Amino acid sequence: MNAPTPKDTADTKVSNFLRQIIEKDLEQGTYASRRWAGSPGDAAHHAAGEPDPAKIRTRFPPEPNGYLHVGHAKSICINFGLAKEYGGVCHLRFDDTNPEKEDTEYVNSIIDAVKWLGFDWSQPGNDKPYQASDYFDFMYRAAEALIEAGYAYVDEQSAEDMRANRGDFGKPGVDSPYRTRSTAENLARFREMRDGKLDDGAAVLRAKIDMASPNINLRDPAIYRIRRATHHHTGDKWCIYPMYTFAHPIEDALEQITHSICTLEFEDQRPFYDWLMERLCECKLLAAPSPKQYEFARLNLTYVITSKRKLAQLVNEGKVSGWDDPRMPTIVGLRRRGYTPESLRLFADRIGVTKSDSWIDYSTLEGCLREDLENKAHRGMAVLDPVKLVLTNWAEAFGTDDYTEACTQPALPHSAIAEGQTPPENSNVQRTFLIGKEVWIEREDFEEVPPKGYKRLFPGNVVRLKGGYVIECTGCARDAAGNVTEVHAKVIPGTKSGTPGADSVKAKAAITWVAVADGVQAEVRLYDRLFAEAHPDAGGKDFLQSLNPDSLKVVTAYVEPSLAQAQPDQKFQFERFGYFVADRLDHVEGAKPVFNRVTGLKDSWGK
Ligand code: ATP
Ligand code: MG
Repeated sequence: MNAPTPKDTADTKVSNFLRQIIEKDLEQGTYASRRWAGSPGDAAHHAAGEPDPAKIRTRFPPEPNGYLHVGHAKSICINFGLAKEYGGVCHLRFDDTNPEKEDTEYVNSIIDAVKWLGFDWSQPGNDKPYQASDYFDFMYRAAEALIEAGYAYVDEQSAEDMRANRGDFGKPGVDSPYRTRSTAENLARFREMRDGKLDDGAAVLRAKIDMASPNINLRDPAIYRIRRATHHHTGDKWCIYPMYTFAHPIEDALEQITHSICTLEFEDQRPFYDWLMERLCECKLLAAPSPKQYEFARLNLTYVITSKRKLAQLVNEGKVSGWDDPRMPTIVGLRRRGYTPESLRLFADRIGVTKSDSWIDYSTLEGCLREDLENKAHRGMAVLDPVKLVLTNWAEAFGTDDYTEACTQPALPHSAIAEGQTPPENSNVQRTFLIGKEVWIEREDFEEVPPKGYKRLFPGNVVRLKGGYVIECTGCARDAAGNVTEVHAKVIPGTKSGTPGADSVKAKAAITWVAVADGVQAEVRLYDRLFAEAHPDAGGKDFLQSLNPDSLKVVTAYVEPSLAQAQPDQKFQFERFGYFVADRLDHVEGAKPVFNRVTGLKDSWGK
């Protein structure tokens, strides 16, 4: 991927093949004659409706069998984004035609995820998502219509024979002995399948296309199978279920979808999609013009796994704390980690839509978050690895050791607001914190014998406590083992930030700190990449072998009062460290604050 320039933000849309297709269809009026009856339905239903007010219809059709991940976020942004951009509507549809794997827990999490990303599927008088299982009656009717028109037959070959007779790339298939059954016999047998007279797997309904087709998907694909399973929505009403390849085009057509956008692995299915649409329009069951399928490259992100099955394994084997573990690439995980909907939408825009598979560097995702938070997230100081600094001349300078003084700093420095941009509402907020005789500083900010080029605290050096006074380091105290227990310095009165004397003494560096007087202890969860390898599951590797053992470090930090007062889910920039979020679940009023590290300030990925 080319490095994106900082300018191609969400509002400068880059053209891509999908936009070009849609623009051409709009220009040529490909779908201008469509009608919409206000709800999904067959040709007769829509014929009685109004001209469709939606210029295009797209859909996002998840199977409710797991939590959505960052790849789905891309698909959501593409489908909802295009609909919004071109005066259309995007349907949220649960593709729940597979009875075994689905669950309402997933249904609810998907609804939450789409809403959280900032999208809406509701239409006048209709705010429920669609469910493919509502179309089972129609699908059954379509199957009978195909049988009646001579386009489908009930095959009772054994599974092995069927596989063997399908042929392969170099070898054409062989017709099933059941292929020439009469229409009446096919219909009777299919009804027996429906009525539970046949065992699971004893027969399938197949489309009658071409056993010699070079596209194996056209060699009489199965379209209905027998499966005695309770469906989470239709219960035990059905013991036969449509195959995905048959169900999906029909779902699209009933909903009057114009552009059915999916990932590349469905490319080989497109000829069957078109075949089925033509046959069902011919039978007058579905309204023309039919939807068309277009494929784009799925998202592959380095250091990330996006297979639902493997993500489930991480959860089930306790490698993470749950689907919403902040290290998970699920939408609930990213949200808890501190990603914003804006950053994910920006990411989807930035990576664009292409027709060939590639890997996106994880730093692209982090970059989008930084860009979003840069001028929104309040600044604050936190000390993550604290050691006490004592200002030994405090009483001498200010009369008593107990003296404290308020310091004020802007929550958002002016430099954070890009030129020409309207300052956000919170841009005038000031934060106030105390300075006193004792403050917490980072352990790494003191060196008794400074390495070359070291500018922070060492005996004789002068630095500024950021937003407070300039100090001169005098030494330290150590315990018996030689560990530094206290750093010592002298405050230089009259040098406080924002006062006329601030520049009277030149400091070599400014360091972050939090006063002992008002600093609040906090739990800070330092998350890192979950996998140590960029392609954890490439080439059939066991992805569990490349788990990063250091993906979570928990430290006890001190934070300034403005951070301690965070609302759950509020994001901050901890000065010098990066972006942090108050944990949505564990950061609760009255208890010790809990922050998650979202990302560092600069791209340190791969370094
Ligand atoms: P499964 O492996 O269970 O089939 P799936 O990832 O295909 O999972 P679906 O619920 O079928 O999940 O996906 C819903 C939609 O999201 C589909 O249109 C699919 O193409 C799209 N999608 C899934 N994964 C990605 C990805 N990594 N990048 C872009 N789109 C994706
Ligand atoms: Mg799928």
